[in-house]
This record gives sequence, C-alpha cells and structure tokens, in this order.
Amino acid sequence: MTKRRTFLALIAGTLSSSLLLAGCLGNPPSKTGAGAASGSAPQAAVNSQASSQLETSTISLGFVPILEAAPLVIGLEKGFFAKHGLDVKLSKQASWSAARDNVVLGASGGGIDGGQWQLPMPQMISEGAITNGKKVPMTILAMLMSQGNGIAAANSVKDGNLTYNLKASSPNFFTAFNQKEGRKFRAAYTFPKANQDIWIRYWLAAGGVNPNKDVELLTVPAPETLQGMKNGTMEAFSTGDPWPSRIAKDNVGYLAATTAQIWKVHPEEYLAVRSDWVDKHPKAAVALLKGLIEAQMWIDKPENKDEAAKILSSRKWYNVPLPVLQQSFKGQYKIGANGTPETDPKMGPLYWSSDRGVISYPYKSLTLWFLLESLRWKFYPGTVDTIQQAEAINNRVVRDDLWLKAAKELGLPATDIPTSPSRGKETFFDGTVYDPANPQAYLDSLKIKG
Ligand code: CA
Repeated sequence: MTKRRTFLALIAGTLSSSLLLAGCLGNPPSKTGAGAASGSAPQAAVNSQASSQLETSTISLGFVPILEAAPLVIGLEKGFFAKHGLDVKLSKQASWSAARDNVVLGASGGGIDGGQWQLPMPQMISEGAITNGKKVPMTILAMLMSQGNGIAAANSVKDGNLTYNLKASSPNFFTAFNQKEGRKFRAAYTFPKANQDIWIRYWLAAGGVNPNKDVELLTVPAPETLQGMKNGTMEAFSTGDPWPSRIAKDNVGYLAATTAQIWKVHPEEYLAVRSDWVDKHPKAAVALLKGLIEAQMWIDKPENKDEAAKILSSRKWYNVPLPVLQQSFKGQYKIGANGTPETDPKMGPLYWSSDRGVISYPYKSLTLWFLLESLRWKFYPGTVDTIQQAEAINNRVVRDDLWLKAAKELGLPATDIPTSPSRGKETFFDGTVYDPANPQAYLDSLKIKG
C-alpha cells in the first residue's frame, strides 16, 4: 500500500540546532478516572444545528499536559469542536498508564473514549499487549503534533557535551562514564516501549551506544522530572515541553538533543479513539476531526502562538510559567551544554504545515514506523514479531478515510490533502533511510537492535 511520494532530503548534519522539546509527561496530574475533567463547557456554545446531524454530541478525551495536547485544548477553548456540534470533555491524565486504563474502561465505565497517545499505545491496546491481554480495538484518527520533544541531560554530565550526534560530540563518553562511576549511565522516560523510549534508543544507537547494554533505562513519573534530575536519579531524560525547557530554565540540566534534530518533521503523538465509539458515531468522528484540523491550523499561525501559550499555561490547563510555553511554541531553545540560544520555528512544534506536507493526516507509513521500532527492540513478543504482523496491525488501527472526509468537508485546498497513505522515504540525522516500501531494508540497516 505504500507508494512513494516526494521526498526531501533532510540531512541532519545541516540542521540548525534550534530546539524544542515536548512531549512526555505532565504536571502533577489531577485525578483521572471518573470525570476529573479539566475542561469542558467551551467558551462557545455548541452549535445545536450541527449537533443535530451527529449520532452523538459528546465525547470524553484524555490528555497529558504537554505541547502535543495543544490542539485538543485549543479546539475546546477556541470553540472549534463546538462549531462542529461537539461538546468535547477533556480530562487530564495522571500518567500514560492511567490514560491506558481509562480508555479500557471507556467513558461509559467512568473512563475516556480516547484522546492523546504515544505510539504504539493505541495499536498495543487494540492487541491487548499492554492491557493484560484485554483487546480494546482503537482507531488512530490524526497526528496531533510533530517535533517538540527532546532529550535533556543533567548538569552532572555537562562535560560529556552530549548533542544529537553523539559520535561527533561525545565519543567514548558512555564507556568512560560507566568506568568512572562504577555504574551505568541512566536514561529515563515516562512510559516504556513508546515514543520517548524509542527516541532515546534511536539517539543512543545512532551514536554507537547500545541502549540494552551500555546504559540503564528507567521509567520516571513526569512530576518527578525536575527533582529526579537534580537528585541524580537519571543523567538523561527523554521528554517534551514544557519539561526540557524547565530543566534548562531551572539550571538542572541542558538540552542535549531535540527530536527535530534526530528526524525532521517526525511523527509524534496521535489522536486515537475507541473503535466502538468511532463505528457507532462516524459523523461525530468526522466532526471531531474537523474541529481538530481547524485548531491545528489556528495554532500553527505565528500570530496565534502567544494566545495559545497563554491559554495552555493557565492554572486550568498546564499551570506552567507563560514564558516557557511562549518560547517553546516559537522554537526558541537553549541548546547544548553551553546553552546556545537558537530560534527556528521550523525546529519547534509543528501542528499543521511543514516541508513534508500537513502534519495532521495519519500517514500509515509513519504510524508503521513505531511498530518497526517495536520489532527492532523486541518490545512486544507474541504480538509484533514480523513485518507482516506490524503492517496488519497498522492497517487495522489507522483510519485515514475519516480524516480525508473531514478535510474535504472543510473545503481544504488539494495541496493540503495527501493522495497516498505513504509519506515516502524518511531520512534520519545519521543518514539512515526508512523507505516504507521496504521495511526490511530499514531494519537490516540498523546496526544495534534488541
Ligand atoms: Ca511526546
């Protein structure tokens, strides 16, 4: 099914090193489960005329307070969901595992219908691989954001001068660290076997460091990020804004790499909803996508970034200092051990436009990549053991037809409507090429694997 499209050579060595990070975890979360809605009752009244055309006018979605959730919050606060007849209830999730447990419950059981996900969580929830065997089919509807994540390093390893390109900046650093400290370098993320784990593994392996042997990988709850880095719980943390920016701002550590440096316009987190909800409410699913797309287009406009930061930084939503989010949204980062200021919106979080086309459309070639990495590291034995299994799962879970319907109903220009489920070849900073038409060649090209 993969068909090549245009492909822009994005050689990482030439990337400017501005940065951004977003993505991993949240603030001290509110209780989730029954309700714990952080927000509903949007500023704009729900369009009852539009509602009357839908199978349902409500949906309950979970979110984690990082930049990836911005289109959900903005869609609610700026009335984009309401305009299309939907009363979206957003509830802050205490952790990724809480989100998983809540979607298994479903809104009818006091949980959620869907929301924001790291991949391949929706695919693995569908297969029962992270839910004790309970299969809850889910549907991936759209990508929420690209870039905006990164790897922060502690001040204790400033002398390592860690950058996105470890081979160039820090040869032999990890071996030397382990010998000197008498223990392994510790690298953390907030949820195993998904985005942040995958980013840190890609980064290390591309630098010749075996994440299974040369470092200790551990899960650290997001609220413990700053203190953990201060206390020496970990030397590196793979996460997303506002966390990396806060680590740098509080002078607890520095931004070693942004995910944009590793893979420009990479897939990040996604909107996915229980398939039983989507199958029962296809028109409402399209309405949800229309609101999401309009929210993503709105956030992407430079003139709206300050307002978006103001909304998200409020106590009601993320409760973080406004300047942190303002800078993140604009791609303003202090990169590297020396904290070199960089500003490049193209290296910051992307919600709609990019050099590789629209961000929102759920390219199957991109969602598949997370399953290929799962195969590479043997994350889900018994579920993802072959490329054929990965492709079959991917095809079951991604519904790009609903996105295309929403885009057409919104009257988007043809240039914003992808014509293939494949975005074509992808190139990483280290020169590795992922051609979705030949996943085996990609896997074969990787020297370090699980
Ligand atoms: Ca993320």
